[in-house]
Amino acid sequence: MVIDFHTHIFPDKLAEKAIAKLSAIGGIPALSDGKADGLLKCMQEDGIDISVVLNVATNVEQVENVNRFAAFIKEHYPNLIPFGSLHPQSENPRKIVKALKDGGIKGIKLHPDYVETQVDDERFAPVFAAADEFDMPVVIHAGWDFKSPDHVHASADAILKVIGRFPNLKLVCAHFGCNRFWDDVVKKLCGKNLYFDTAIACERFGMKRETAETIIKNHDDEKILFGSDMPWCRAQEVLRFIDSLDIPGEQKEKIYYKNAKKLLGLPA
Ligand SMILES: [Zn+2]
Repeated sequence: MVIDFHTHIFPDKLAEKAIAKLSAIGGIPALSDGKADGLLKCMQEDGIDISVVLNVATNVEQVENVNRFAAFIKEHYPNLIPFGSLHPQSENPRKIVKALKDGGIKGIKLHPDYVETQVDDERFAPVFAAADEFDMPVVIHAGWDFKSPDHVHASADAILKVIGRFPNLKLVCAHFGCNRFWDDVVKKLCGKNLYFDTAIACERFGMKRETAETIIKNHDDEKILFGSDMPWCRAQEVLRFIDSLDIPGEQKEKIYYKNAKKLLGLPA
C-alpha cells in the first residue's frame, strides 16, 4: 500500500487556469490536468492507494471556497483525503479550524511563501494554536520555493521557533523538512517533534540519495511520510527514489503508508 501525503488538485472549472499559472511561476510542466479525475488516473498508473490533497488559500477571501472544495472532495472521492487551509489574516481561525474538524477534514495546509508571511510570524500563531487544540496536523511548505526564490519564509530556524512555542503540534515540513536546505535539516531539525514529507524528492529536483539517507537515519522513522507533489512530480518518480535508498525495508513501509495511517487516524 502507498499513501501519497502531498498532492494538489483544483476545482474542474479552475484547474486549467491554475495549472497554467503555477506552471509558469515554477517554469516546470504539470504532469496531470490538475483535476481530481486526472490525479486518480495517475494514482492508478503509479500504484497509489490514497492521496492527501493539500489545498492552499493564497488570499484571505479564498479561505471559504478552498474549504468548501475540500468538503466536496471528501464527499465525492473516497481515495482522496483533502486538507483545508487558512490565511494568516483569517478572522477567528479557531472557528474555521473547528468547522473543518467537525466536517471530518483531517488537516490543514499553509504555504508561507504564497501568503508572504514568515511561518513564525505572530499572525500564524492563532492558526497553530487552533490546530494544536483540535489535534489537526498542519502541513507547511518548508524551505526554498519557486514563488519566492530570494526569500525563504519557512527556514529551519523559523520552524524551530514554531515548535518551541507549540511543542505538541503535529507539524509536517514538506520537502524533507526544508527544501534545498537539507544540511540545516540534519543539523537543526532531525530528531525534533516534526514530520517530514518526501515531496519532490528525486534527482530531478536536486535531492541526492545520500542526503535522503542521512536525514532518515538521523530522524524518527515514524515521522517521515511519502509524498510526491503531484502534479509537479509523479509519485512513481519519488517511489523509485525512495525504493533505491539504502534503508531497511520496514522503514520504507513506514514511509510509504504506516506513518501516514497513524497521523491521519486511519485503521491500521
Ligand atoms: Zn506542494
